[in-house]
Amino acid sequence: MPSHATIRPAPRRAAHLALPLLALLLAACGSGPRDTARKPESFGQIDRARLLAADATPGDWLTSGRDFGKGHYSPLEQINRDNVARLGFAWEYHTGTRRGLEATPIVVDGVMYTSGVAGRVYALDARNGEELWHFTPEVDGQVNRKACCDQVNRGVSVWKGKVYVAALDGMLYALDARSGEVLWKQDTIVDHRRAYTSTGAPEVAGGVVVIGNAGAEYDARGYLSAYDLDSGRLAWRFYIVPGDPSQPRENPELELAARTWDPKSRWDVGGGGTAWDAMVYDPELDLLYVGTGNAALYNRAKRSPKGGDNLFLSSILALNPRTGRLVWYYQEVPGDMWDYTATQPMVLADLPIGGMTRKVLMQAPKNGFFYVFDRRTGELLSAKNFVPVDWAKGIDLKTGRPLVDRDAVDYTTGPKLVFPATMGGHNWNPMSFDPRTGLVYLPTLHAANYMLDTTRGHEYRPGRLNMGITAMLATGLQLGSPGLSPQLRRQLEQLGRKYPEARDMHASLTAWDPVAQQAVWEYPTPGWWDRGGVLSTAGDLVFQGTDTGLLRVFDAHDGKLLKEIDTGTSIIAAPMSYSIDGVQYVAVMAAWGGGGWFITNPKSAAYTYGNEGRILAFRLDGGPTPKPAPLADPGPRPMPPPLGASAATVQRGARLFAENCGICHQNVPRSGAPDLTRMSPAVHQTFNDIVLHGQRRALGMPQWDDVLSEADADAIHAYLISLAWDAYRAEQAGLRAGTPVVAPH
Ligand code: CA
Repeated sequence: MPSHATIRPAPRRAAHLALPLLALLLAACGSGPRDTARKPESFGQIDRARLLAADATPGDWLTSGRDFGKGHYSPLEQINRDNVARLGFAWEYHTGTRRGLEATPIVVDGVMYTSGVAGRVYALDARNGEELWHFTPEVDGQVNRKACCDQVNRGVSVWKGKVYVAALDGMLYALDARSGEVLWKQDTIVDHRRAYTSTGAPEVAGGVVVIGNAGAEYDARGYLSAYDLDSGRLAWRFYIVPGDPSQPRENPELELAARTWDPKSRWDVGGGGTAWDAMVYDPELDLLYVGTGNAALYNRAKRSPKGGDNLFLSSILALNPRTGRLVWYYQEVPGDMWDYTATQPMVLADLPIGGMTRKVLMQAPKNGFFYVFDRRTGELLSAKNFVPVDWAKGIDLKTGRPLVDRDAVDYTTGPKLVFPATMGGHNWNPMSFDPRTGLVYLPTLHAANYMLDTTRGHEYRPGRLNMGITAMLATGLQLGSPGLSPQLRRQLEQLGRKYPEARDMHASLTAWDPVAQQAVWEYPTPGWWDRGGVLSTAGDLVFQGTDTGLLRVFDAHDGKLLKEIDTGTSIIAAPMSYSIDGVQYVAVMAAWGGGGWFITNPKSAAYTYGNEGRILAFRLDGGPTPKPAPLADPGPRPMPPPLGASAATVQRGARLFAENCGICHQNVPRSGAPDLTRMSPAVHQTFNDIVLHGQRRALGMPQWDDVLSEADADAIHAYLISLAWDAYRAEQAGLRAGTPVVAPH
């Protein structure tokens, strides 16, 4: 499959357009808006002057968070508290993919640019959703083995006629904003034997475009790469954690960082620190802010046996984008052991603090504290927890250091219950800052993990998972995990009883006052799913989607639910808003996926309607919102082949399946992967060719012959055949008893 961009005179995937009644009436009278068919004259013309004056053209949305501060706030107010009941469907676009969509679209001069699965890019006419072009990067299916959190992509950057996107395999593309043609591409991965992927949006910072990567659960040493905007030439590279001390240091900052690591650290595993999401460029101060990720291995006692802060894990770095040199840093979690990344979205704003207006950087990272920094200097102005936290008793503002409670959360001395969970008090889902209300609208998760040290040593597995510990959501859901001894299970249950709040896992949309550092209102939802990204607008509205497929609209002042639109598709991305020809739109990308994507929510829209990606746009007096067709009954199950394997083999297959395959194949309606309890005779026949030898690699199924033997693949096959027989027998019994057979979802 070639890497290509396709220019389509007519949309291949027809956009479904709802013409509001009013527009039809006007058109019938011959006085309708004359320019609805007008094609854009300008493509992606965003520059420094335009970015600095973003408020002068409030109908545009110029960065992933609208302006350079990325507050995910729109000054548009046509849709407001008084009329939001009239919000309806404007148009939709089908991406044709069935994995998660996390990006916030950019809209400039009437064109929407956004990204989808594995780095696909879509350019649409934002008036009606008609496709102008789309781009599909060539990505080898083998990379799926390195992706912890689905094949997502969190957006494009648009600058001076170019669209920049990083594909899942780490290839950075500069596309022509008019045509989608590839102008240049650069392989940003320094070592493909390691487990690097890219899922974040590249950031344009002065004369360069910067990209990091993901992979700290696997086998990665984090770094940033900056490329010349026009030529694609590498301008600088910044390694976030030190490498093997017997090798020369790649950047001078690593001298300082290395002093905080044991010289006998596990350099083979890479250290982690991957910058997989948030980057913000401040054109006023000419600083690039980057959040860095968690440690690899998780367990510091095994990673850096003598301890240490392990810079620059879980930190905010302020870099000079011209030189790539560090200007200031702040480490949020010294010596991270809990997957506490500092990669969550950052918002730049002016806040009144202590009688002065401060230029601040705000972040609510995974560790559960809301931080406010002076972004010129990195001075910590305040920090307060926004969800239950037990890893630290607070942040000492004098030293800037957290008061880490190691007794509570150091799992090297026994299993621990850790708040927040590895999914974070807040994750990648954008928060929104409304400068009028002064509130940050923050999607939060109130949850804890059991964390246990399950290995005596750690055997490094190149290119594969290397967490070195076990982490389980503390809801009791996962206590049935295979491999958990009855004694350990009892220990964990005891911990759970000691901290009953751990079982009350819930998500919450929280309106947070960043000056007073306190919640003003909260809208809680059960489970952990509804943590979608947030938009606030000058219409006094806050928008957020749900996994059940609702687009919700709240009153920005008190959190009252004003409107719900049932779209039939899970929403985790942040909505955004733009206007064209005097009409305000709210648009959002919809499809379930991302971190924890395989954990079932029985109420997910995916179980009813599947998970095909959509881009949805809404406006006042729009039509009813179409839902996807309900999933078709897959029909009677084929009779599986004879099992012919021992119970011990089936059990071994179950363990191998859970370790290697389950992440994609255990929750079929949500992952879009084939249902392996319904394999055809042809698939049974070629099972080992598919699993071991890459027969379907081009379709995204990696090959496993470097990890699994023929006997391993046979055991997995036997386990799947036994599952298929269970399902088949249940179906037959249902038929015999005359009860209607419902396909298992
Ligand atoms: Ca992580």
